[in-house]
Amino acid sequence: MTDQQTEKKQGVLSSNVVMSGIRPTGMLHLGNYFGAIRNYVRMQEQYECYFMVADLHSLTTHPDTSLLKEHVKRVLAENIACGLDPDKATFYCQSHVRETGELYLYLNMLAYKGELEKTVTFKDKARLHPENVNAGLLTYPVLQTADIIIHRAGLVPVGKDQEQHLEMARNFVQRFNHRYGQIFPEPHAFNFNEALVKVPGLDGSGKMSKSENNMSTLYFADDDDTIRKKVMKAKTDAGPTEPNSPMPDYIENIFLLMHLVSEEGVIKKYQEDYNNCSIRYGDLKKQLAEDMVKFIAPIRQKADDILANDKYLVETMQKGAARASESAQKTMKLVREAIGLNYF
Ligand code: AMP
Repeated sequence: MTDQQTEKKQGVLSSNVVMSGIRPTGMLHLGNYFGAIRNYVRMQEQYECYFMVADLHSLTTHPDTSLLKEHVKRVLAENIACGLDPDKATFYCQSHVRETGELYLYLNMLAYKGELEKTVTFKDKARLHPENVNAGLLTYPVLQTADIIIHRAGLVPVGKDQEQHLEMARNFVQRFNHRYGQIFPEPHAFNFNEALVKVPGLDGSGKMSKSENNMSTLYFADDDDTIRKKVMKAKTDAGPTEPNSPMPDYIENIFLLMHLVSEEGVIKKYQEDYNNCSIRYGDLKKQLAEDMVKFIAPIRQKADDILANDKYLVETMQKGAARASESAQKTMKLVREAIGLNYF
């Protein structure tokens, strides 16, 4: 019996293969780190991992490719500076794995217009850029599914913003398996059994992101003074007047950011100050700014060193492309056989 037949007999597949990606639409920020990259670094020690720079996805929203090469290299360098090890994980560029495009085509026949139109990220992007509501934007979750299942991955370290996409991925996988046989495991978001993370923006609303308001996002490329300036501009108010008052969202978000980079004792002190109405938001923000600088500066310096070594970056991409393509070719052989596209 072949491996595939054995797996078919066992019913629903599970997989400990890991897959995730980040779009090169700008520089990496704290949301990318705490939502995704931090887990990549932990997972690469224990699992077979595929991590990709999602350059094709970026074309759905960024058709101007004049900065693409620069951004791809920066995302590669920043991931490595954060601890991703290209010798432990397969780290590659999405466009180097041509098989994903073929799988995307097959999956598109199993994805329905109505469900794609209901996707929150599609609606948000269509609202922000009504002049460019292209079909690639609509079928983004289908390409994302192809990226994941091309390695037959089951574990997907992502932030909370990707939850709906993974639910759609499971639907597409179920439809494929139902129609053509049990080929693919169902992918699930993974955060070491903890709740998925959403890092808020410094403006107190929404999430930190590459393309929204630059002042509310802390990038790994930000210099120390920029970090300080951004944190000091975070929204606050005159402070609580009643002991143990509930925190407004924008203050809660400052504490949430503090939990990412500050020491427990320091956070506790400011929480007590808040509860007994003696908190000075200027001091709170100064503390947060210094802790952010301490966290970001070494990663920025490391990324700059890696970026200066173009030969290393090119070799890393080539090595990743070869390994990821080998895995994708194996999967596509199974897929073509399952669909019945193996005529000879
Ligand atoms: P993107 O930058 O949209 O390509 O996202 C790359 C990864 O970073 C995905 O796993 C996202 O879930 C994660 N991510 C992006 N922004 C945030 C955020 N503000 N909080 C948590 N995770 C995030």
